[in-house]
Amino acid sequence: MDRRILRPLQAGLLAFGAPLGWLFIRLAQGVNLQTEIMENLGLYLYMLIGTLVVFIMYGFYVGQKEQIISDLAVRDGLTKTYNHRYFVERLEQSVSQSIRKSSPLSLVYFDLDYFKRVNDLYGHPKGDEVLIGVVSCVSSCIRQYDTFARLGGEEFAILMPDVDLEKAASVSQRICQQVEKLVFLKPEGGQFKISISVGVVQRQEGEGAAGLYARADQMLYLAKDRGRNCVVSQNDSNE
Ligand code: GH3
Ligand code: MG
Ligand code: MG
Repeated sequence: MDRRILRPLQAGLLAFGAPLGWLFIRLAQGVNLQTEIMENLGLYLYMLIGTLVVFIMYGFYVGQKEQIISDLAVRDGLTKTYNHRYFVERLEQSVSQSIRKSSPLSLVYFDLDYFKRVNDLYGHPKGDEVLIGVVSCVSSCIRQYDTFARLGGEEFAILMPDVDLEKAASVSQRICQQVEKLVFLKPEGGQFKISISVGVVQRQEGEGAAGLYARADQMLYLAKDRGRNCVVSQNDSNE
């Protein structure tokens, strides 16, 4: 759960400690519960609302800081996708889950085509803008449940639990088409476009994380070999 929600919720619960604590002291002194509350309703409401407001605000502040730190540890600074380390961790977990539940697991691996040219022609900042633009486009095509990560320079992977090859390939086709539609502005005026090459695989019986990753890499290599701006999945790799 997002720390900016979790911490205020926890702090809000703690806030009940002040009025409840005082009430227990009063009960221990032998006062009647109903009389105590009725006679001091204002005091109890003041304690509850006061501590709730302060604790929730403090919880939000702490949660926000924690979220920033946790994002720094697992996300890529430029694109805000997950980083390589987090991806490897999720891949291992997803493979174990796929084995345990006998559920499908697909891996999509893509790389921007001729990206070096973008940097060479329009500069590194424009290249960064393209990376952010492509990530935003791809993010809109996948589920929240998928793990979208930047594995290196202009290479990305999407881990899709509970998704079979057919579905993963069709999502990949859509991603490829959507990225092709993106238009970027040249610094000196005019426009340019970008494309991606995509490899798609589904985990096979007995296959581990390393095997799955290696096959996705092979499919991506084939997509580059076939002229780029295309999707190659394990089913059509022999065509
Ligand atoms: P291919 O179609 O074969 O993938 O060709 P390519 O030009 O995309 O591949 P290549 O490996 O030759 O170049 C990748 C380029 O990506 C080189 C590097 O400068 C650039 N790059 C890597 N990370 C970043 C980044 O964070 N920002 C920018 N602007 N460029 C980056
Ligand atoms: Mg490339
Ligand atoms: Mg590359």
